[in-house]
Amino acid sequence: VKINSLYELKKHYNPILLILFTIISILIIDYIVYITGGTSIAFTHMMYIPIIISAFTFDIKGGVGVALLAGLTLGPLMPLNVSEGMMQEPISWILRIIFFVIIGTVTSLLFQRIKLDKENEVKKLFINAETGYPNSSKLKLDLNEMVNNKENFTLVAFKILNYDQVNIYVDYEVGKKSVLKVLEMLSELFEKRNIYSVDTNEMVVIMRKCNVQDAFRKAQEFLSLFEEPTFIDGLPIHLVIQSGIVNFPLHGKGENELFKNIGKTFDQEVLYKNRIAIYENSISQKHQENYAIVVAIYDAIKCNKFTIVYQPKINLSSNNVMGIEALLRWNNDIKGNMNIGELIKIAEDAGIISEITKWVIKNAINQLKVWQDEGINTKVAINISPKDLQDDSIIEYTKNCIAMSQIDPGMIEFELTERAIIEKRMKLVLDSIRDMGLKISLDDFGTGYNSFIHLVEIPIDFVKIDKAFIDNIKDMQTGFLVKGAINLVHNLGKKVIAEGVETQEQLEILKNMGCDNIQGYYFSKPLPPEKLKEFILKYNYEQISL
Ligand code: C2E
Ligand code: CA
Ligand code: CA
Repeated sequence: VKINSLYELKKHYNPILLILFTIISILIIDYIVYITGGTSIAFTHMMYIPIIISAFTFDIKGGVGVALLAGLTLGPLMPLNVSEGMMQEPISWILRIIFFVIIGTVTSLLFQRIKLDKENEVKKLFINAETGYPNSSKLKLDLNEMVNNKENFTLVAFKILNYDQVNIYVDYEVGKKSVLKVLEMLSELFEKRNIYSVDTNEMVVIMRKCNVQDAFRKAQEFLSLFEEPTFIDGLPIHLVIQSGIVNFPLHGKGENELFKNIGKTFDQEVLYKNRIAIYENSISQKHQENYAIVVAIYDAIKCNKFTIVYQPKINLSSNNVMGIEALLRWNNDIKGNMNIGELIKIAEDAGIISEITKWVIKNAINQLKVWQDEGINTKVAINISPKDLQDDSIIEYTKNCIAMSQIDPGMIEFELTERAIIEKRMKLVLDSIRDMGLKISLDDFGTGYNSFIHLVEIPIDFVKIDKAFIDNIKDMQTGFLVKGAINLVHNLGKKVIAEGVETQEQLEILKNMGCDNIQGYYFSKPLPPEKLKEFILKYNYEQISL
């Protein structure tokens, strides 16, 4: 370790300063030799110091060069005895030069040797002795660097499941060779420098700047090579290989977590054909279909296969569109026009909901900007899942989007359900959302527990009364409940939005109860951007001209 730190030091030194230091020390020693009486006194031996130092820092060139220089300065011009004015015999200074050069050469060679040993030692620490590929220590080191650089990457691990059987039933050598064969095949499909041999029968590939979807395809491609037996020493061996996928930053925050999770994928029940498991964040086991959906969701985000429809909310006193709600739509190959609630649930369980949310935030804000440039100003509400608020990344992301589009933050509203709000930490999160200038709605009000308590405690602007209540509003008890809720919300200084209003009758009842805003098919279904623009233009214009 000490030698290592010395070599580290060497890297940081300025060579010019070192040369200066060497020359000055030679001159000082010359001076000392002269004032102490000449070369007959032992101070000439001090010259070993600059010679050895430059042998260390500048290798053999430095050692020999400084030896020559030092020897010459102690050469013909330096007296043997200053007081007696006696000069040296040429043979003595020539021999001294030769001696110095030998010292310079030998010490530099020794230093080189130590350095080489050290390098080999370090290399060994990071190389799998059996395969010659970088080992798990090297993988962790490289992962750490990539995590620090916030690089996006996916790890794909491969494991020979029947490695032990191959060893037992065929031959130990064949087992070993099968690992080498798999590594060789990997290096044909992936960049060799990204392949690691982490355990006897496990290898990991780092796929830089690669998403789960592409990594999955690549792993699939690789595993398909093993559908036929692999020939090892002329023997057809059927290798059974399993693969696990872990993505940064989706499936782990640091190298240790990623490393641990890639191991876990091997214990995970592999439900997808072709033996590939994508690391699963949640505890519960998902159905095979969900894996396909998760992969397809990534694809949809990357290739913009999602769309957003916008449903207007009408203010009953001004009769204007007071805002719109952004609702996700996805037409996918697996399930056709998918139920969005179901999709959100799968994404939440798989831990990738915030990817979707970010997509919605970015696109809704972009759309808002487009409308704004066309002269249409409307507030947009975005649905935020409870899992989105487990860290601050959504808030940071929204901040950036707002800054980039230069939209007034007051034009954006987050719709949160009670599920999101009941967590303890949530007060802080809600405060930071408000500090940004965003509005907050409490979604699906009445369907959670303790609804009324939350109303008092949390800083919100709107309360959205759930469609279930509106459906039954003609029922006397439900009517009382809704009326009570509206009064309470008003007393707390907040506004009400009734959701899922479909009929004139419901509208009239709500109007009489003093409800502020209405959202529902009665006014409009969720509309694609162009249609929504027409709606706002027509609706707001008609109201104004009335
Ligand atoms: P939600 O937030 O309660 O959204 C209102 C849902 O009610 C929407 O369904 C909307 O189309 C529907 N709706 C509105 N008015 C009426 C009506 O008069 N009658 C009927 N029958 N339905 C009406 P949608 O778009 O299918 O969304 C379902 C749920 O999926 C949403 O419920 C929301 O929880 C979730 N969701 C939708 N988009 C997103 C999103 O971008 N992010 C997140 N996290 N969740 C979303
Ligand atoms: Ca909503
Ligand atoms: Ca709702």
